[in-house]
Amino acid sequence: MFTKIEDPSIIEGYLTDASNLHGRAEVLVRPGSTEEVAEILAHCQEHGIPVTVTAGRTSTTGAAVPYGGWLMSMERLNKVIEIGHDTAVAQGGVFLGALQTEIENTGRFFPPDPTSRHECTLGAAIACNASGARTFRYGATRPWIKGLTVVTPTGEILKIERGDPIPTDWPVPHWNEPKVKTAAGYPEPHDLLDLFIGQEGTLGVITEATLELTDLPPDVLGILAFFPDRQSAVKFVEKAREAAKADPKGDFSARALEYLDGRCLKLAAGQGAEVPEGAGAALFCEQEIWSEDQMDAAMGAWWEALEEGGALADDTIIAADDASLEKLHSIRHAIPAGINEKIIRNGMRKVGTDLAVPDEALDEMMDAYEAAPIDHVIFGHIGNNHLHLNLMPTTQQELEEAKDYYDELARKAIALGGTVSAEHGIGKLKRHQLAWMVGADTLKAFEDLKRFLDPNWILGRGNLLKAPKE
Ligand SMILES: Cc1cc2nc3c(=O)[nH]c(=O)nc-3n(C[C@H](O)[C@H](O)[C@H](O)COP(=O)(O)OP(=O)(O)OC[C@H]3O[C@@H](n4cnc5c(N)ncnc54)[C@H](O)[C@@H]3O)c2cc1C
Repeated sequence: MFTKIEDPSIIEGYLTDASNLHGRAEVLVRPGSTEEVAEILAHCQEHGIPVTVTAGRTSTTGAAVPYGGWLMSMERLNKVIEIGHDTAVAQGGVFLGALQTEIENTGRFFPPDPTSRHECTLGAAIACNASGARTFRYGATRPWIKGLTVVTPTGEILKIERGDPIPTDWPVPHWNEPKVKTAAGYPEPHDLLDLFIGQEGTLGVITEATLELTDLPPDVLGILAFFPDRQSAVKFVEKAREAAKADPKGDFSARALEYLDGRCLKLAAGQGAEVPEGAGAALFCEQEIWSEDQMDAAMGAWWEALEEGGALADDTIIAADDASLEKLHSIRHAIPAGINEKIIRNGMRKVGTDLAVPDEALDEMMDAYEAAPIDHVIFGHIGNNHLHLNLMPTTQQELEEAKDYYDELARKAIALGGTVSAEHGIGKLKRHQLAWMVGADTLKAFEDLKRFLDPNWILGRGNLLKAPKE
């Protein structure tokens, strides 16, 4: 029998996430096994009690915030079960960064790298199909999952392997998912496993996962290149994309391509980072080095490409040694510090977008980001055409303006064939944008699947879809 915690002072610590939403819950449960998760869900299904799964609470969309009912914390399901050569097995509540360090200590590699990886859990990264800078080369979390143990909202335990078919009576949604990096809505699934990746804690609780591992690159070059303006930086990205596609293990073959706009650079300079004069944009890139010989060849290839691409060559940092790596990291880290300082000074939360568009729409989308009516910075995963516009309002009126502008941008991304969420998911804050993107029929198909697996709509109520009687 599971233990219920009903002390409000303990529950209080679990009621918010990185979205700043604040919820309420009557009971906290902390299951220690898959069977216990099953027992709790069966009980809650029978009594129609809403259950919200909570893990690292780094969701930016309110997905982990409960609006009543029970909270199920994953904190006791935190064991690494096995790390082998080709696969690793771990429980859902393991912190992703810690697990990756353990894997890398054995010389193997699990690539998905959300920026929050040291604060977020494996189960949630799978539930949200998280991604990061290395997604440019390795894709999001989805392709790296080989098996899952999932407890459905009725308390059934499923042990699923890649390739297992979806039962024929399940009403699976078929829709035109945008052909970009996306974490919005239920996926168009290839198999049963796919259905539980990216479901944002609404279709099942992931208690254990089998991960595919790959070779750990022995070395990685970090490159910080400054450009006079956005146009030259984007041109370089196009060239780097082509090169990476043509030869993934080549000497000029980025695994990450990250953009920083001129406003980011000003913020970094304000934090004391060395930013060259005349720099209007920058790219942070990573190149994997697979052999000793490749180090010199890769450095040469990157210098040549950057010079040809119009980078401010004298100021480019190619970091292979500790001192240059330090310099590079000091600039990267100065930017979030600068943003946070502004937010605190403004006394208002920021509004950060998570849109992605196809290659050919990148320029048009960037024009729209740059036309934002209030103070902002633009940075992020340009390799996947997935930039974060961070709007930093100073008044309540500006906050409303920022939210309206975000909606305008979301409609634009949809019109350009993009997605309303590339990595953070929909949660409770972006349901209206998901509805615009998928349309009424697909939304209905999502609801049919949800109701089929969760007749009383108990799990992750309020995430992705409007619950009945909400
Ligand atoms: C500073 C910062 C940087 C970030 N950077 C990135 C990034 O680069 N890429 C990215 O993709 N995201 C990023 N995020 C978003 C967030 O970290 C991810 O969505 C992450 O996967 C959430 O993990 P968590 O453990 O904190 O989950 P929580 O926030 O606790 O929960 C998130 C959702 O997952 C569900 N859930 C949790 N555990 C399980 C489980 N075991 N089974 C089923 N459902 C579950 C919850 O119910 C909820 O719906 C960032 C967030 C912050 C604050």
